Amino acid sequence: MEKVALITGGSRGIGAATAMRLASLGYNVCVNYRRDENAALQVVADISALGRRAIAVRADVSKESDVIDLFTQVDERLGNVCALVNNAGVLLPTSRVEDMTADRINLILATNVTGYFLCSREAIKRMSTRRGGRGGSIVNVSSAASRLGSPNEYVDYAASKGAVDTLTRGLSLELAAEGIRVNCVRPGFIHTQMHADGGEANRVDRIKDTIPLKRGGEPDEVASAIAFLLGADASYITGAFIDLAGGK
Ligand code: NAP
Repeated sequence: MEKVALITGGSRGIGAATAMRLASLGYNVCVNYRRDENAALQVVADISALGRRAIAVRADVSKESDVIDLFTQVDERLGNVCALVNNAGVLLPTSRVEDMTADRINLILATNVTGYFLCSREAIKRMSTRRGGRGGSIVNVSSAASRLGSPNEYVDYAASKGAVDTLTRGLSLELAAEGIRVNCVRPGFIHTQMHADGGEANRVDRIKDTIPLKRGGEPDEVASAIAFLLGADASYITGAFIDLAGGK
Protein backbone atom coordinates (compact mmCIF):
# COMPACT_ATOMS: atom_id res chain seq x y z
CA MET A 1 0.00 0.00 0.00
CA GLU A 2 1.49 3.34 -1.04
CA LYS A 3 1.65 6.02 1.66
CA VAL A 4 0.19 9.41 0.75
CA ALA A 5 0.95 12.60 2.69
CA LEU A 6 -0.62 16.04 2.32
CA ILE A 7 1.41 19.01 3.57
CA THR A 8 -0.28 22.38 3.71
CA GLY A 9 2.11 25.23 2.91
CA GLY A 10 4.59 22.74 1.48
CA SER A 11 6.19 25.08 -1.04
CA ARG A 12 8.86 26.56 1.23
CA GLY A 13 10.35 26.62 4.72
CA ILE A 14 9.32 23.92 7.20
CA GLY A 15 6.65 22.55 4.84
CA ALA A 16 9.08 22.05 1.95
CA ALA A 17 11.63 20.38 4.24
CA THR A 18 8.88 18.09 5.53
CA ALA A 19 7.78 17.23 1.99
CA MET A 20 11.33 16.21 1.10
CA ARG A 21 11.81 14.26 4.34
CA LEU A 22 8.56 12.32 3.85
CA ALA A 23 9.40 11.58 0.22
CA SER A 24 12.75 10.18 1.31
CA LEU A 25 10.82 7.91 3.72
CA GLY A 26 8.68 6.56 0.88
CA TYR A 27 5.59 8.77 0.93
CA ASN A 28 3.97 10.15 -2.19
CA VAL A 29 3.30 13.80 -1.42
CA CYS A 30 0.80 16.56 -2.15
CA VAL A 31 2.52 19.94 -1.86
CA ASN A 32 -0.14 22.55 -1.12
CA TYR A 33 0.64 26.22 -1.62
CA ARG A 34 -1.24 29.52 -1.75
CA ARG A 35 0.55 31.80 -4.25
CA ASP A 36 4.03 30.71 -5.28
CA GLU A 37 3.45 28.02 -7.91
CA ASN A 38 7.08 27.96 -9.04
CA ALA A 39 8.31 27.19 -5.53
CA ALA A 40 5.76 24.37 -5.19
CA LEU A 41 6.69 22.94 -8.59
CA GLN A 42 10.37 22.97 -7.59
CA VAL A 43 9.56 20.86 -4.50
CA VAL A 44 7.54 18.50 -6.71
CA ALA A 45 10.50 18.18 -9.10
CA ASP A 46 12.87 17.46 -6.20
CA ILE A 47 10.53 14.75 -4.91
CA SER A 48 10.19 13.22 -8.38
CA ALA A 49 13.99 13.04 -8.54
CA LEU A 50 13.81 10.83 -5.43
CA GLY A 51 11.52 8.45 -7.33
CA ARG A 52 8.31 9.33 -5.47
CA ARG A 53 5.10 10.76 -6.90
CA ALA A 54 4.20 14.34 -6.04
CA ILE A 55 1.63 16.94 -7.02
CA ALA A 56 1.36 20.66 -6.35
CA VAL A 57 -2.13 21.97 -5.54
CA ARG A 58 -2.99 25.62 -5.07
CA ALA A 59 -5.52 26.09 -2.27
CA ASP A 60 -6.05 28.75 0.39
CA VAL A 61 -6.63 26.63 3.50
CA SER A 62 -8.76 29.34 5.07
CA LYS A 63 -11.36 28.85 2.31
CA GLU A 64 -13.69 25.88 2.70
CA SER A 65 -14.24 25.30 -1.03
CA ASP A 66 -10.48 25.38 -1.68
CA VAL A 67 -9.88 22.77 1.05
CA ILE A 68 -12.58 20.47 -0.34
CA ASP A 69 -11.03 20.76 -3.80
CA LEU A 70 -7.53 20.15 -2.38
CA PHE A 71 -8.54 16.84 -0.81
CA THR A 72 -10.52 15.79 -3.90
CA GLN A 73 -7.42 16.32 -6.02
CA VAL A 74 -5.38 14.17 -3.62
CA ASP A 75 -8.06 11.43 -3.83
CA GLU A 76 -8.05 11.49 -7.62
CA ARG A 77 -4.33 12.00 -8.34
CA LEU A 78 -2.50 10.27 -5.45
CA GLY A 79 -4.99 8.04 -3.63
CA ASN A 80 -5.90 7.56 0.04
CA VAL A 81 -4.28 10.13 2.27
CA CYS A 82 -2.85 8.59 5.46
CA ALA A 83 -0.80 11.56 6.73
CA LEU A 84 -1.78 15.22 7.09
CA VAL A 85 0.63 17.94 8.15
CA ASN A 86 -1.24 21.11 9.08
CA ASN A 87 1.61 23.53 8.47
CA ALA A 88 0.38 26.55 6.43
CA GLY A 89 0.58 29.54 8.70
CA VAL A 90 0.90 33.30 8.48
CA LEU A 91 1.98 36.19 10.64
CA LEU A 92 1.81 39.91 9.97
CA PRO A 93 4.18 42.78 10.83
CA THR A 94 4.78 43.33 14.52
CA SER A 95 2.08 45.26 16.34
CA ARG A 96 0.84 45.79 19.87
CA VAL A 97 -2.66 44.47 20.54
CA GLU A 98 -4.01 48.01 21.06
CA ASP A 99 -3.27 48.74 17.38
CA MET A 100 -4.72 45.55 15.85
CA THR A 101 -7.74 45.72 13.53
CA ALA A 102 -10.43 43.06 13.31
CA ASP A 103 -9.37 42.38 9.70
CA ARG A 104 -5.83 41.60 10.80
CA ILE A 105 -6.87 39.35 13.69
CA ASN A 106 -9.40 37.48 11.54
CA LEU A 107 -6.88 36.96 8.74
CA ILE A 108 -4.48 35.29 11.17
CA LEU A 109 -7.17 33.15 12.76
CA ALA A 110 -8.71 32.12 9.41
CA THR A 111 -5.46 30.59 8.14
CA ASN A 112 -3.81 29.41 11.36
CA VAL A 113 -6.93 28.04 13.09
CA THR A 114 -9.87 27.63 10.70
CA GLY A 115 -7.51 26.21 8.06
CA TYR A 116 -6.27 23.54 10.48
CA PHE A 117 -9.87 22.63 11.41
CA LEU A 118 -11.01 22.38 7.78
CA CYS A 119 -8.07 20.25 6.66
CA SER A 120 -8.44 18.01 9.72
CA ARG A 121 -12.14 17.59 8.94
CA GLU A 122 -11.48 16.45 5.38
CA ALA A 123 -8.70 14.11 6.54
CA ILE A 124 -10.93 12.56 9.23
CA LYS A 125 -13.64 11.83 6.64
CA ARG A 126 -11.10 9.77 4.72
CA MET A 127 -9.03 8.22 7.54
CA SER A 128 -11.45 7.42 10.37
CA THR A 129 -12.15 3.72 10.87
CA ARG A 130 -15.62 4.82 12.04
CA ARG A 131 -16.21 5.98 8.45
CA GLY A 132 -14.65 2.93 6.81
CA GLY A 133 -11.15 4.41 6.51
CA ARG A 134 -7.86 2.72 7.33
CA GLY A 135 -6.70 5.20 9.98
CA GLY A 136 -3.93 7.75 9.70
CA SER A 137 -1.89 10.38 11.42
CA ILE A 138 -2.11 14.16 11.74
CA VAL A 139 0.66 16.50 12.87
CA ASN A 140 -0.17 20.12 13.65
CA VAL A 141 2.58 22.71 13.39
CA SER A 142 2.06 25.07 16.31
CA SER A 143 4.75 27.38 17.70
CA ALA A 144 6.77 28.18 20.80
CA ALA A 145 4.73 31.39 20.59
CA SER A 146 1.77 29.53 22.13
CA ARG A 147 3.83 29.24 25.35
CA LEU A 148 5.70 32.55 25.14
CA GLY A 149 2.82 34.83 24.01
CA SER A 150 4.91 37.05 21.67
CA PRO A 151 4.31 40.32 23.55
CA ASN A 152 4.92 43.51 21.52
CA GLU A 153 5.36 41.40 18.37
CA TYR A 154 2.26 39.37 17.43
CA VAL A 155 0.01 38.23 20.25
CA ASP A 156 -2.63 37.45 17.60
CA TYR A 157 -0.32 34.88 16.00
CA ALA A 158 0.64 33.45 19.40
CA ALA A 159 -3.03 33.11 20.36
CA SER A 160 -3.75 31.32 17.08
CA LYS A 161 -1.07 28.79 18.01
CA GLY A 162 -2.62 28.42 21.47
CA ALA A 163 -5.78 27.36 19.63
CA VAL A 164 -3.73 24.84 17.62
CA ASP A 165 -2.45 23.32 20.87
CA THR A 166 -6.00 22.95 22.17
CA LEU A 167 -7.19 21.56 18.83
CA THR A 168 -4.42 18.96 19.07
CA ARG A 169 -5.44 17.91 22.57
CA GLY A 170 -9.16 17.71 21.82
CA LEU A 171 -8.86 16.06 18.43
CA SER A 172 -6.37 13.47 19.67
CA LEU A 173 -8.92 12.33 22.26
CA GLU A 174 -11.86 12.55 19.85
CA LEU A 175 -10.09 10.31 17.32
CA ALA A 176 -8.04 7.99 19.52
CA ALA A 177 -10.46 5.07 19.09
CA GLU A 178 -10.81 5.67 15.33
CA GLY A 179 -7.29 4.83 14.17
CA ILE A 180 -6.08 8.42 13.91
CA ARG A 181 -3.23 9.81 16.03
CA VAL A 182 -2.96 13.59 16.38
CA ASN A 183 0.26 15.19 17.56
CA CYS A 184 1.93 18.59 17.50
CA VAL A 185 5.32 20.21 17.01
CA ARG A 186 6.10 23.62 18.49
CA PRO A 187 9.03 25.16 16.61
CA GLY A 188 10.59 28.51 17.41
CA PHE A 189 13.25 30.67 15.76
CA ILE A 190 13.58 28.60 12.57
CA HIS A 191 15.42 30.08 9.57
CA THR A 192 12.60 30.61 7.04
CA GLN A 193 11.08 33.48 5.05
CA MET A 194 8.28 33.84 7.60
CA HIS A 195 10.27 36.35 9.65
CA ALA A 196 10.43 38.70 6.65
CA ASP A 197 6.62 38.67 6.67
CA GLY A 198 6.83 39.81 10.30
CA GLY A 199 8.91 42.76 9.09
CA GLU A 200 12.34 41.56 10.23
CA ALA A 201 14.08 39.10 7.92
CA ASN A 202 17.07 38.64 10.26
CA ARG A 203 15.01 38.26 13.46
CA VAL A 204 16.42 34.82 14.26
CA ASP A 205 20.02 36.00 14.17
CA ARG A 206 19.18 39.11 16.20
CA ILE A 207 17.81 37.07 19.10
CA LYS A 208 19.99 34.00 18.86
CA ASP A 209 21.98 34.86 22.00
CA THR A 210 18.75 34.63 24.04
CA ILE A 211 18.22 31.04 22.85
CA PRO A 212 19.82 28.46 25.18
CA LEU A 213 21.37 26.57 22.22
CA LYS A 214 22.66 29.94 20.90
CA ARG A 215 21.40 29.50 17.33
CA GLY A 216 18.27 29.40 15.23
CA GLY A 217 16.88 26.10 14.03
CA GLU A 218 16.80 24.68 10.52
CA PRO A 219 13.59 23.61 8.75
CA ASP A 220 14.92 20.06 8.44
CA GLU A 221 15.28 19.80 12.23
CA VAL A 222 11.52 20.40 12.49
CA ALA A 223 10.79 18.08 9.56
CA SER A 224 12.49 15.17 11.31
CA ALA A 225 10.24 15.55 14.38
CA ILE A 226 7.15 15.78 12.16
CA ALA A 227 8.17 12.64 10.27
CA PHE A 228 8.75 10.78 13.53
CA LEU A 229 5.32 11.70 14.91
CA LEU A 230 3.60 10.78 11.64
CA GLY A 231 5.24 7.38 11.32
CA ALA A 232 5.12 3.92 12.83
CA ASP A 233 7.90 4.66 15.35
CA ALA A 234 5.37 6.89 17.14
CA SER A 235 2.57 4.32 17.06
CA TYR A 236 1.76 4.70 20.80
CA ILE A 237 1.98 8.50 20.82
CA THR A 238 -1.08 10.72 20.50
CA GLY A 239 -1.89 14.13 21.92
CA ALA A 240 1.83 14.79 22.36
CA PHE A 241 3.88 17.96 21.83
CA ILE A 242 7.51 18.22 20.74
CA ASP A 243 9.11 21.60 21.45
CA LEU A 244 11.81 22.61 18.94
CA ALA A 245 12.98 26.00 20.14
CA GLY A 246 16.59 25.50 21.17
CA GLY A 247 15.65 25.08 24.82
CA LYS A 248 13.56 28.26 25.07
P1 NAP B 1 6.96 30.19 5.48
O1 NAP B 1 8.36 29.98 5.06
O2 NAP B 1 6.41 31.57 5.55
O3 NAP B 1 6.01 29.28 4.54
C1 NAP B 1 4.63 29.37 4.68
C2 NAP B 1 3.99 28.38 3.73
O4 NAP B 1 2.57 28.41 3.97
C3 NAP B 1 4.20 28.72 2.28
O5 NAP B 1 4.30 27.51 1.56
C4 NAP B 1 2.91 29.47 1.90
O6 NAP B 1 2.59 29.33 0.52
C5 NAP B 1 1.92 28.69 2.73
N1 NAP B 1 0.68 29.39 3.05
C6 NAP B 1 0.53 30.55 3.72
N2 NAP B 1 -0.77 30.85 3.84
C7 NAP B 1 -1.46 29.86 3.24
C8 NAP B 1 -2.82 29.60 3.03
N3 NAP B 1 -3.78 30.44 3.47
N4 NAP B 1 -3.17 28.48 2.38
C9 NAP B 1 -2.22 27.63 1.91
N5 NAP B 1 -0.91 27.81 2.08
C10 NAP B 1 -0.53 28.93 2.74
O7 NAP B 1 6.66 29.59 6.93
P2 NAP B 1 7.47 28.59 7.89
O8 NAP B 1 8.36 29.42 8.73
O9 NAP B 1 7.99 27.43 7.15
O10 NAP B 1 6.25 28.15 8.83
C11 NAP B 1 5.54 26.95 8.66
C12 NAP B 1 4.74 26.72 9.93
O11 NAP B 1 5.63 26.71 11.04
C13 NAP B 1 3.70 27.81 10.22
O12 NAP B 1 2.53 27.23 10.75
C14 NAP B 1 4.40 28.66 11.27
O13 NAP B 1 3.47 29.34 12.10
C15 NAP B 1 5.17 27.60 12.02
N6 NAP B 1 6.30 28.14 12.78
C16 NAP B 1 7.38 28.71 12.17
C17 NAP B 1 8.41 29.20 12.95
C18 NAP B 1 9.64 29.84 12.38
O14 NAP B 1 10.48 30.30 13.17
N7 NAP B 1 9.81 29.89 11.07
C19 NAP B 1 8.35 29.12 14.35
C20 NAP B 1 7.23 28.55 14.91
C21 NAP B 1 6.22 28.06 14.14
P3 NAP B 1 2.87 30.58 -0.51
O15 NAP B 1 4.34 30.88 -0.41
O16 NAP B 1 2.45 30.03 -1.84
O17 NAP B 1 2.02 31.71 -0.01
